[in-house]
Amino acid sequence: MRQVIGVDIGGTGIKGLVVDEGGTVLAEAGRETEARLGREVILGQLHRLVKELLTGHPEVGALGIASAGRINADSGEVVYATDNLPGWQGLQLTQWAAAEFGLPAAADNDANAALLGEAWLGTGRGKPSLVMLTLGTGVGGANMADGRLLRGAGWSGGDWGHSVLVPGGRPCNCGKRGCAEQYVSGSALLRLAREQTGSTYTHGREIMAAAGRGDAAALAVLERFTADLAQVIDNIGASIDPELVIIGGGVIEARAVWWPLLAGKLESGLARRVAAAELSNRAGCFGAARLALERLRRDSSVESYGSDKEEMEYG
Ligand SMILES: [Zn+2]
Repeated sequence: MRQVIGVDIGGTGIKGLVVDEGGTVLAEAGRETEARLGREVILGQLHRLVKELLTGHPEVGALGIASAGRINADSGEVVYATDNLPGWQGLQLTQWAAAEFGLPAAADNDANAALLGEAWLGTGRGKPSLVMLTLGTGVGGANMADGRLLRGAGWSGGDWGHSVLVPGGRPCNCGKRGCAEQYVSGSALLRLAREQTGSTYTHGREIMAAAGRGDAAALAVLERFTADLAQVIDNIGASIDPELVIIGGGVIEARAVWWPLLAGKLESGLARRVAAAELSNRAGCFGAARLALERLRRDSSVESYGSDKEEMEYG
């Protein structure tokens, strides 16, 4: 069975898995890395992590990379990255990896990869029409229709975090005002809780714990948060009409507290089509591994049939 490596480059760390075609994890490794330290630091850590995984599994045939930023999945170039990843924009990520490790490589945006992972091995199994939202420091998003990611003409498809929820609302780091990210991310929840309750919460877990104890102020914060999230999901339903909207990110851990509030604000048909991500912080690695497997499959179909039309489908 073919083996590949899938790595996920996040804001505070890099994770990697050796996975076989059946989705079985053969090895796992991680590095704490502050992405803001810049390109050379990230690439150095990425190099060491992949070398470590390859040493134990020399039969690995390809490498897939999930990264923040807008990635041209055809060429493997980072076409846009914020200052959170200094020097990242313009990097030829798959070319770098191919030269560094002598392996075929593929790269994609981390939210796209998370959706690929969930579609393959997580809560989206068997459903070819999916939307993913990851609620963390920001809001990541990805769309899939008929088993294919809708990456968009400029590689920013599925960027629900920067769809406008409140016209003229809070300024966003993208330059617009009122983006969904400013209301339904984990960071936005924390800020809302501080503003609305006057408490000095330092982590979302504290808000969830207070709400879980029946604290009225904390519950009011979650009412606001889930009302905004319901609006975002309603817009997704109207524009994509997916079989499932998958919600991932740190806030999922405490979903027992807020999920019923969200479900109560959605029309019942749509409420049944919202589900929590299952693969937690490994989703991006699994999706990156899937990209690597697709790359191998394309390469071998070119060799055998002289055609690259064959594609893997999900579902
Ligand atoms: Zn924005």
